[in-house]
Amino acid sequence: MASDLSSLAQSPSEEGIELASSCLFCGNDEFEVEAQDVRDFFFKCDDGHFDYLRCTACSAILLRNRPVGERLLRAYASYYTHGEATGGGGGGSAAKRFIRSAYVRNRYAAASGIIDRLIGTALRAASYDTSGIDEQFRFAPKAPAKVLDYGCGSGEYLLRLHPLGHDLAGAEYDPQLIGSMAGRGIAIADVATLEESHWQSEFDHITLAHVLEHVPDPAALLRRLHGWLKPGGTLYLEVPNADATGLAMFGRYWRGLEAPRHFALPSQPALTRALEAAGFASWTQHINTCARGWVWAESLEATPVEDRAALQAKMAAAPPETRANAEFLTFVARKPDA
Ligand SMILES: [Zn+2]
Repeated sequence: MASDLSSLAQSPSEEGIELASSCLFCGNDEFEVEAQDVRDFFFKCDDGHFDYLRCTACSAILLRNRPVGERLLRAYASYYTHGEATGGGGGGSAAKRFIRSAYVRNRYAAASGIIDRLIGTALRAASYDTSGIDEQFRFAPKAPAKVLDYGCGSGEYLLRLHPLGHDLAGAEYDPQLIGSMAGRGIAIADVATLEESHWQSEFDHITLAHVLEHVPDPAALLRRLHGWLKPGGTLYLEVPNADATGLAMFGRYWRGLEAPRHFALPSQPALTRALEAAGFASWTQHINTCARGWVWAESLEATPVEDRAALQAKMAAAPPETRANAEFLTFVARKPDA
């Protein structure tokens, strides 16, 4: 897939475009071409042609020609923030829903009943797979705990935690959201004016779900969030994986690229190095088993009809999902105790 940079069109001095010169994760300035002529296949906010490069040092992926200023704002014009599509939903039979609710109260809520505890214990004893539920709750500590959702979108995650008794805060650009959540006692900080000094060692848990790939300086954001965590606090983060099987199969049509809003995607080694550099001492990687199905379905839908049969054969023969090739990197990283 990778080829020499000379195969790319000469850098156009295109309006509203700035060319990336170094890797956002490691600072290296040598790249190979990963995907050319990537379009805004999924939201169609920008009609430009974009290229993704792969860092030869850390294997992260970088958008070569990224939108700035007005053009960047336009790229978000009809974009919706990631919501239920990444979760498993709360469907299923009444019995399943009952068990699920009991598990959630026992695992995450400040107060849970005797039945909830019995069910929680029984699920543990049966090694019941609760990873889909924990993914939706982003491995938060049990309430009461102070939780910040950085890039909280429409506030869906905060509202999911709200009945469980957590002390909640969000950070987002949307002033409408800021107003609507205040009525529920959830403070939303405006990212545009949010200073690093706004919080210090404040939160037990911070979540960063599909945000890191959108920011121009992911390493700086990780350092900032580390400073906002209490000692022993945890950061949940999820980001598309530069080494995902889906990228190898679908190339420019892979849902995880999402040009031109995704500026950089880390590989697993690039992410762990960035976490370490930000001050995190340990982390656990989870595999989000809900991701592959919908990411591949949307990627397939974006590919030309004549290529789909061959891709479907590849999908059927694809290797199982591992921590290295998962569609998303899903991490819970821990700040060292004081
Ligand atoms: Zn790099």
